[in-house]
Order: sequence, then structure tokens, then C-alpha cells
Amino acid sequence: MPKIGVSACVMGDQVRYDGGHKQSTFVTRQLQPHVTYQPICPEVGIGMPVPRPTIHLREMTDGIHLTDSRNGLIDHTDAMRTFFAKKLPVLEQLDGYVVAAKSPSCGMERIKVYDSEGQLLHRSGQGLFTQLLKEHFPHLPVEEDGRLNDAGLRESFITRVFVYHEFRHQVL
Ligand code: SF4
Repeated sequence: MPKIGVSACVMGDQVRYDGGHKQSTFVTRQLQPHVTYQPICPEVGIGMPVPRPTIHLREMTDGIHLTDSRNGLIDHTDAMRTFFAKKLPVLEQLDGYVVAAKSPSCGMERIKVYDSEGQLLHRSGQGLFTQLLKEHFPHLPVEEDGRLNDAGLRESFITRVFVYHEFRHQVL
């Protein structure tokens, strides 16, 4: 059975910055009988509390950083990279990943990026954890929770997950 990583809030875990969740009925009901899940909350994983102050992506001279939203003085970038590296043995076992949209940690696309002064630069960033995931596993099927409401994207994702699962078991 394929194993899918999933943003923990999409599974219904109350781990969001405001103490809420983003449970997806497709993930927790329709897909659940056919796969096993590995829920991960990268922000809780780096030791942030629930609830917690918001964080965002900031473009600095040496690249994109994950910082607090207030003044950017608290930098979570190294902690997130370390957490990702520690999770690699778990991530290597996955056949797909469903990430929560709009998150500076988990979002797959259209994430807001601010400049060093905190002014909005653009909305085409990628959450740091998901960026690392896609760099390390370029063929891993990754999809956002909201996009799975589209029947075509849903079918495509499921097909890619099962193909990836078959492939992984043939070569490993
Ligand atoms: Fe945690 Fe990611 Fe959900 Fe944010 S979007 S609460 S980091 S799992």
C-alpha cells in the first residue's frame, strides 16, 4: 500500500499557528482506505508551540529565509533544514506527499515572499520544507490539499502515487 506524507493539519491535527486545522475530507475519508499516512508538521517539528506567532519567507542577500513575521529577527531557516535532514529516513519511504496550501513551510506554490524590510515582494514562493522535499525527491508526487478538490488533478496525483510506489518497489 502506498505511503503518503501529509501536512499534519490536513489530517485534522490542531497544529496551525492559531491552534486550528485544515482537515481535508478527501484525504481523511476517500483516500484513506487505499494508502497509509505519515503526518508531519514541520513548524511543530522545529519546536514551535501551538498556537504560535506567524512566520513568513523573507528574501535576504543570501537567499530566502524563514523568519518571524514581525521584524524578521528570529530566523528559523537552519532549524527547518536540520529538521528536514533528520526526517530524511522517513521521507525516503514515501510514495507521495499532500501539503497544506499558503504555508511558508508547507505550501507548494504562490507563497508570499517579503523583502528584508518586511514589504511584500511577490507571491510566487514555495514553503521551505516543501522546497527541500522537491529538491531531494524531484520525482516524488507532491500536491496541495486544495488542488485535490479538482477531479482531474486528484486522479493525476493518485495515478502518479501508485506508479511511483510500483517503481520504488521494483528498484529497491
Ligand atoms: Fe504545520 Fe505545515 Fe500545517 Fe503549518 S501548514 S500547521 S507547518 S503542517
